[in-house]
Amino acid sequence: MKDPKTLVQAPPRGPVEPVQLGLDDRIQFRCHKGIDCFNQCCMDIDITLTPLDILRLARRLDIPTSECLALHAAAFEMDQHGMPGYKLRTREDSPACMFVTDEGCGVYEDRPAACRYYALGSMGLHREGSAGVDDIYFLVKEPHCLGHREPRTLTVGEYRREQGVEVYDDLNREWRDIILKKRSGGPAVGSPTERSFQLFHLASYDLDGFRRFVLSTNFRETFDLEAETYTQLEEDDEALLRFSARFLKQVLFGEQTIPLQEGVRERRMEQRMERRRRRLEAGKEETEQPFDPRYDAPQEED
Ligand code: SF4
Ligand code: SF4
Repeated sequence: MKDPKTLVQAPPRGPVEPVQLGLDDRIQFRCHKGIDCFNQCCMDIDITLTPLDILRLARRLDIPTSECLALHAAAFEMDQHGMPGYKLRTREDSPACMFVTDEGCGVYEDRPAACRYYALGSMGLHREGSAGVDDIYFLVKEPHCLGHREPRTLTVGEYRREQGVEVYDDLNREWRDIILKKRSGGPAVGSPTERSFQLFHLASYDLDGFRRFVLSTNFRETFDLEAETYTQLEEDDEALLRFSARFLKQVLFGEQTIPLQEGVRERRMEQRMERRRRRLEAGKEETEQPFDPRYDAPQEED
């Protein structure tokens, strides 16, 4: 199962049908346990994980998101700047998924979005002259997949509903658009700092760590949020995921939607200058990144 969701601009060659589909277009496909190719699609995988994929797997396995990453994900770089990404980890001795069993997917109710979509692919497309991102769909026809021969037709919209992808798309869309914007390299994007990558990693993939971060004293002293918002972020995974996209837009693109506490910029500038003064006094080299409000976020607390 090759994940076509990582694509940004054009459908690939190979098994992908070069036809863009809309929600009302019909496809012929059915997958079921009695089919001869059952599980074949999980024997050679290349699946990019989204924030919600990792969160759902971690909740299902009852482990923290950081442990889920360590056990079930493999890091890769999403672009030439080294933007961190994760793929679903395969078995040590084969490209098969770690979760596949004789009975089918061992994490079926919480399987990643790409597994839900298959044999459809989806991607976001920047059309020239358009400010937004369009969702388009296409059929992936791998030779081993016999589901395309099954006598059932349904619309793309019906298939999405059947496979439960809507909630995934809803919660992942903003994150996907952040990556598209980052890749298309608008003027405010530039080359991200190491710190911005750390924050991207935390807010995208390690949601439990991100929760500790936003509930920390440092964060509260930096950002001016209502007490009610903090309660939501503490208790509600979905709210935390939505907030993480908002936070990333602030960190990466300078979209200031999370208000800063009064005087925080001045205080942090003073702290930086004080650290710099101390380093110079100690004869140490300048190692700190220059002040940049795009990346001006507090450090995580120990
Ligand atoms: S029909 Fe396709 S998706 Fe279903 S088990 Fe077979 S290879 Fe996998
Ligand atoms: S998570 Fe489930 S559906 Fe996805 S590749 Fe693994 S076994 Fe297959």
